[in-house]
Amino acid sequence: MEAAGRVRVIKEPSKKGKKVVYWMQGAFRVHSNPSLEYAIRIANRIGLPLLVLVVLDLGYPEANYRSFKFFLEGLADVKEGLSSRGIALHLRKGEFEKILLEYVVDAHMLISDAAYLPVMRGLRDLVYRGAESGIIEVEPNVLVPVKVASDRMEYGAYTLRPKIRRLAPLYAGVFEAIKYKGERLDDVLDFEPSDHDKLLKGQVEYVHPCSAVGGSKQAFRILGEFLRNRYREFAELRGDPGVQAETELSPYLHFGHISPLQILEEAKRTGAPNGNYEALFEQLVVRRELAHNFTLYASRLDSPSKFIPGWAAETLKAHERDQRDYVYTLEELEAAKTHDRYWNAAQSELIERGKIHNYMRMYWGKKIMEWSETIEDAYEAMVYLNNKYALDGRDPNSYAGIGWCFGLHDRPFKERGIFGKVRYMSSEGLNRKFNMVYYLERVNNIGSDGRL
Ligand SMILES: Cc1cc2nc3c(=O)[nH]c(=O)nc-3n(C[C@H](O)[C@H](O)[C@H](O)COP(=O)(O)OP(=O)(O)OC[C@H]3O[C@@H](n4cnc5c(N)ncnc54)[C@H](O)[C@@H]3O)c2cc1C
Repeated sequence: MEAAGRVRVIKEPSKKGKKVVYWMQGAFRVHSNPSLEYAIRIANRIGLPLLVLVVLDLGYPEANYRSFKFFLEGLADVKEGLSSRGIALHLRKGEFEKILLEYVVDAHMLISDAAYLPVMRGLRDLVYRGAESGIIEVEPNVLVPVKVASDRMEYGAYTLRPKIRRLAPLYAGVFEAIKYKGERLDDVLDFEPSDHDKLLKGQVEYVHPCSAVGGSKQAFRILGEFLRNRYREFAELRGDPGVQAETELSPYLHFGHISPLQILEEAKRTGAPNGNYEALFEQLVVRRELAHNFTLYASRLDSPSKFIPGWAAETLKAHERDQRDYVYTLEELEAAKTHDRYWNAAQSELIERGKIHNYMRMYWGKKIMEWSETIEDAYEAMVYLNNKYALDGRDPNSYAGIGWCFGLHDRPFKERGIFGKVRYMSSEGLNRKFNMVYYLERVNNIGSDGRL
């Protein structure tokens, strides 16, 4: 029996409804999904039929052809998985709020995935307010439920880590599939997930798709390949942009195609030296859940001055008029046309592959700060480029990663121009630490499968 806190009752039903609805919005998977298993348990217990609702809202903020295609690929696996478990799927196309309000009219219970970004939390509040059904929120995509881990915005990994470590054993393990015993309702399919061209062309901004394919099946294939070929080097080589040692799972984690708990369980089973498990836990749980903590408790994400620590805000303000040797427009940045070949390679990686190697992602952000007229311009450019091109964008990690460039979750360093006491990164530092020729070669040779 898992510890409390993953499931939260938002409200009890005010009248008896006709069905249980699981609104799948953060965890697009049918296995190891506590929201789905919880919905099945409730439907079985109260003897009402269950359906799973997925809404395709083409107005989703900052989404485009690239991200929608990846999302739709994931839905194909959801459709197949639910069918094999005898559970109805409603794939509806339209505005979230309008469609959700249709469903809560005669639902007895609405189960939903918790959200951590202001825009999706706001949407939930609107739906919850209009519902007569009961509402239950589940956190399917983190190891330790975010509010259980901490009731405040943490200063950094060093303050969250001990809390997570203490609670982790209570929440570890995968979720067993519960057999659904209720009536099989009809599917309602406004669209076929495989029709992405028909659904998206001319309807959403066109950003050319990456070769990475979305969905749980693909996530497991990549996990298997990582565990066989790269995991043993993860602790040692993950930080080196010249080497391919990362999991490559962030897009799948973003869409909930795979659960972090499953990744940890599979990693444990390999018997690889423990340092690798510790390194994976640090990224996948401590850092990732620090990002969730940040976006849940930050009141605003529209400007770094609203959330970075006082020392960082002060020092950046003190240096706001410092001379910038290079200033690039957003168009120049987007086109990867700067004087810096390492930065251009990182931007090309973002455009072609839909993500940047973690170390280069830090460098990418720091240089945008250095080459922008103002801190606000830099933040805007980073959010725009990251969320437009990254398959893992529009995530708590996006805002925490970008925020980190401005001093979030970090400490002061020796004072210098533009950055003040905020950490600085240089191309000389890259040359000192890594063989950057390998990184440039890797980006030049991005294959047709999008792999480096
Ligand atoms: C400017 C900037 C922007 C970023 N934008 C995003 C983003 O949009 N989406 C995103 O998922 N990550 C973002 N990150 C964090 C990090 O770069 C990526 O999570 C990581 O590179 C993803 O690749 P991977 O899955 O192969 O990572 P791995 O190294 O294999 O790590 C496994 C998992 O751990 C988590 N993780 C790894 N590094 C971090 C980190 N620094 N912070 C939080 N979680 C981490 C991710 O979920 C990742 O999938 C950003 C970082 C920076 C500096």
